[in-house]
Amino acid sequence: MEILWSPWRSKYIESFKEEKDNEQCFVCAAIENPAEDAERLVVYRSPFSIVIMNKYPYNAGHLLVCPLKHSATLDSLSTDELLDLIQTVRLSVNVLEKAMSPHGFNIGINIGRVAGAGLPEHIHFHVIPRWNGDTSFISVISDTKVISQSMEEIRNKLIDLFQHHD
Ligand SMILES: [Zn+2]
Repeated sequence: MEILWSPWRSKYIESFKEEKDNEQCFVCAAIENPAEDAERLVVYRSPFSIVIMNKYPYNAGHLLVCPLKHSATLDSLSTDELLDLIQTVRLSVNVLEKAMSPHGFNIGINIGRVAGAGLPEHIHFHVIPRWNGDTSFISVISDTKVISQSMEEIRNKLIDLFQHHD
């Protein structure tokens, strides 16, 4: 994988420190506060999983697919929870394909802080759309305001597609 250079990620590191200070899991906070879906960037809820847009994405459309269970490992998830999680990853890929026509995807889980997990306490899949040439394209964009504006538009599009899947 070519590494995407994302200058706005430094804000993520800062916000993570803040979140750590008040010891709040942002995934659980999103799960427990459906009235705040817009500000928490939630796009979809399944019986055992939730899909949240990454506030500080590596690329446009970067989604986090998380089990509802607050767990640091795959071991503690039941077969039903695991099945729902991977089905929700598949659905996320299908929705992103319709919404953004990416050329490919990076999909993965970071387990443990050493592996780059920003929230090691609550396991989650990263689903990151990729476009030909995006590594050089992204490095040109350093205006975070442009990113956040398009995130609102992307969120509305994704919600609509998640609701009308099948
Ligand atoms: Zn959690």
